[in-house]
Amino acid sequence: MNQEDFFKKITSHAKEYGFVFQSSEIYDGLSAVYDYGQNGVELKNNIRKYWWQAMVQFNENIVGIDSAIFMHPTIWKASGHVDAFNDPLIDNKDSKKRYRADVLVEDFLAKIEDKINKEVEKARKRFGETFDEQQFITTNARVLELKDQHATTSKKLYSIMEANDLVAFKQLIEDIGVVCPISGTRNWTDVRQFNLMFSTQMGSTAEGASEIYLRPETAQGIFVNYLNVQKTGRMKIPFGIAQTGKAFRNEIVARQFIFRMREFEQMEMQFFVRPGDELAWFEHWKKERMKWHLSLGIPASKYRFHDHEKLAHYANAAADIEFEFPFGFKELEGIHSRTDFDLSAHQKFSGKKIQYFDPELNESYVPFVVETSIGLDRMFLAMLSNSYNEEKLEDGSERVVLKLPAVLAPVKAAILPLVAKDGLPEKAREILQSLRYDFYCQYEEKDSIGKRYRRQDAIGTPYCITVDHQTLEDNTVTLRDRDSMQQERVSISDLHTLIAKKIRPEYN
Ligand code: ATP
Repeated sequence: MNQEDFFKKITSHAKEYGFVFQSSEIYDGLSAVYDYGQNGVELKNNIRKYWWQAMVQFNENIVGIDSAIFMHPTIWKASGHVDAFNDPLIDNKDSKKRYRADVLVEDFLAKIEDKINKEVEKARKRFGETFDEQQFITTNARVLELKDQHATTSKKLYSIMEANDLVAFKQLIEDIGVVCPISGTRNWTDVRQFNLMFSTQMGSTAEGASEIYLRPETAQGIFVNYLNVQKTGRMKIPFGIAQTGKAFRNEIVARQFIFRMREFEQMEMQFFVRPGDELAWFEHWKKERMKWHLSLGIPASKYRFHDHEKLAHYANAAADIEFEFPFGFKELEGIHSRTDFDLSAHQKFSGKKIQYFDPELNESYVPFVVETSIGLDRMFLAMLSNSYNEEKLEDGSERVVLKLPAVLAPVKAAILPLVAKDGLPEKAREILQSLRYDFYCQYEEKDSIGKRYRRQDAIGTPYCITVDHQTLEDNTVTLRDRDSMQQERVSISDLHTLIAKKIRPEYN
């Protein structure tokens, strides 16, 4: 199955099994906005909970907050979002389609990378066992030409973005010959800057109303509460503040399902440190965050770091954790050393002193910040795409199974009476009653046991517990493992311990 078909399968599976729906679907939908269904909301809650545990519960020096989405408009002036939270956009005059100019150039660069890889694969086939990849890519004329084109174009892109030179941007798009995928023409408008923040009015009358923004990131809610939390929590540097919540960006190019949305959720942690210590903490959080991802049992080959060469104006180091989505390796999480940019800016714009008195140094300073920022919806997509499997079984039938990490699975166990009579439903409900306080379990008695197993496989339930006639005699049930489909007979009194063990990741 090619990657495009695979991605289509995932999106339709997500809809069919109540994970993700297009927002306002009965009104033909709202672009790049999605709703989570009955299983999606559980998966999303579980991801959020596991992140929160790893941050707040497992670290003595990290606490959480929940700040409002609406904030004083000057906050976005101080943070730089009013002036600089822009994407360069360009329209094709024939198709009337709008694109991000940088994405058009990046797509062009990705095509060159594909071409290089194809040359390498061709040569590997031709030379067989004697093939020396390193030698090939450093000497083959065609590959060298492509590498050169790649290097010149990406250098130009960086310098254009750095200088914010929109005229040169259009020139670059023309020079590399980008065509609109819809109209097939090169009839482009000029490149313009487009601010990604949504704004609205606060106040009841038009005259008295003031323009405010829907937050484009949760981080600023943490910065403006730094003093409140530090003082009331008697926090000592180094310490962190974590927050999860909605963020809004008027993305120009919104495709790839829940990868790029206009309303999404972030999970962010800002870690406040002594000036000068930030790069060591940056390395610490890079490692720690990768450890969190790997604790979910996903193969390490699915993740990679991408260290930023071009840094945002506020950062002195930045790296992304990229995940291999069905459409390639893309950013899942960002780890940024933000210096004292944000706190200093808020100090300046608010006129309030935002400092920390360090008793060990006997001096006050504006703390430096290392941030970890992950999109909850992107993590959801990563988990969904990684876990989707179509399997051919020994008896010739097929099953679709979501091999989700057990800690994240929407339903932890399904309790299934073999038949809906002879006292089996009552016994099954007794088991449900004993487990449901700690685990989200489902009771199902409709259809054959095989069909019920398939339904639970399709939503990623790690365990199916089947209650049969023997259960009434000796208080044992069969416990079926989702991935191996093996069944073992276990005592009802052991179920709680077995499920708890299964859903506990190796992290802390
Ligand atoms: P991108 O380059 O993909 O636009 P970004 O670098 O602007 O992302 P950040 O501002 O660093 O992203 O936001 C932190 C995280 O929030 C990202 O790593 C991503 O997981 C998530 N995120 C950002 N924008 C979106 C979006 N439009 N939809 C869903 N998740 C998003």
